Amino acid sequence: MTQARRGQQVVVLGAGMVGIACALSLRQRGLEVIVIDPLGPGAATSHGNAGVLARSSLMPFNHPRLWSQLPGLLRGRSPGFRYSPLAMLGQWRWGLAFLSHAREQAFRETTTALDALIRHSGELHRRWMDAAGVAQRRRDEGWLFLYRSEAGYESGAFGRETLARFGVATATLDPHELHDLEPHLQPIFRKALWVKDASSVDSPGEIVRAYARWLVELGGQVVTSEATRLRRDSEDWSISTSDGSTLRADHVVLALGPWSRDFLQQQFSLKLPMGFERGYHRHFSPAQGATLNRPVYDTTAGYVLAPMVQGLRLTTGVELNAQQAPPRLAQLDAAERAAREALALGERTAEPDWLGSRPTLPDSRPMVGECPGQPGVWLALGHQHIGFSTGPGTGELLAQLMLGEPTTIDSSPFRPGRFLRD
Ligand SMILES: Cc1cc2nc3c(=O)[nH]c(=O)nc-3n(C[C@H](O)[C@H](O)[C@H](O)COP(=O)(O)OP(=O)(O)OC[C@H]3O[C@@H](n4cnc5c(N)ncnc54)[C@H](O)[C@@H]3O)c2cc1C
Repeated sequence: MTQARRGQQVVVLGAGMVGIACALSLRQRGLEVIVIDPLGPGAATSHGNAGVLARSSLMPFNHPRLWSQLPGLLRGRSPGFRYSPLAMLGQWRWGLAFLSHAREQAFRETTTALDALIRHSGELHRRWMDAAGVAQRRRDEGWLFLYRSEAGYESGAFGRETLARFGVATATLDPHELHDLEPHLQPIFRKALWVKDASSVDSPGEIVRAYARWLVELGGQVVTSEATRLRRDSEDWSISTSDGSTLRADHVVLALGPWSRDFLQQQFSLKLPMGFERGYHRHFSPAQGATLNRPVYDTTAGYVLAPMVQGLRLTTGVELNAQQAPPRLAQLDAAERAAREALALGERTAEPDWLGSRPTLPDSRPMVGECPGQPGVWLALGHQHIGFSTGPGTGELLAQLMLGEPTTIDSSPFRPGRFLRD
């Protein structure tokens, strides 16, 4: 492992939650840090998400019960899941590897690893939001899984058992108790699970931008440009950018979210098995004052509705597709119809519909560590559904590995060598 030292120069590629968190953790340890991103901080996937920071997110999508759900999913029976057969043919290796992790042993390893990362990140987010002056953007009211039928609630038993095993605080609510928490929801839900160990924010992009401003106050730099080429020059790296300049670095951190796969392929001919769980969002103004106190997940219809500064943000479940395929709004339109049954939504706001990709590796764990065969290049990528919440823990883990410090959480489940070889 190529150890980093105080005073050395690090260039971080990508200013999403993960890149900015890595930069902050490194700057706090005395390294000289430059972050580059053509869009600026928090403008891509880290902007469009549902803003949930929840211990319940330790459940990966590829859990052992996925096998019994698979026939229904493939037949398009679940509104929270769509896929493009053509794109999946092109990504069949990733698809098979993803499914091969839907078994007990892998599930135990992943849930244990994600639980540690989520808990550590939650503590850091709390401290960082205070330090960055955005604590008022966080709500500590938990979030709600809503069930339209008893059968739906029963089908969530495995998930609830898993959360209980990890000591995640939850409460099952009847319709009256749900009404007390969220009085504006229509009475169409028979049960709800209140995940109390959860927070949410009213603008994920603003949190990233506040962290980026804090980074600059600490002496870091953020540059609006795109990395086009990485080259090893004897002991260090040179990074060519789209504005024609070249940056020198002792270490490079790649935190490119869903763009990581193509970048690794282009620069090093490395094949990263990354799938793209695409998701959409759309905003609504509240109608007749009907709003929410916390994000809600309608488990039957597969969408999340979350109160944001822009209005109520509707986010969809998963569309497995190529990252760059054109948007297909049918899933978002269906989610809107279902959400209107649950809450009196007003007009769509002027914010455009948004599409992003959750970058997912076959074992649903991110990759954090040095890139095999590329000394001084470090990876922080593959955060699937939870990169907004787990950015800070990732940044801290990466910085500890780079500086050879003891790590707060076990780093081995996240090692890049799981899927990348020299
Ligand atoms: C619909 C939806 C809902 C979600 N809800 C949640 C949630 O509630 N909670 C949660 O924790 N997570 C959620 N997620 C997941 C979360 O948003 C992602 O895991 C997370 O944002 C990934 O962060 P990142 O920094 O890795 O990637 P990004 O935020 O995508 O950042 C990568 C950056 O790399 C930049 N880049 C690309 N190419 C280059 C280049 N050549 N040079 C320099 N920069 C480059 C891009 O411009 C981008 O800004 C959701 C995702 C979706 C799609």
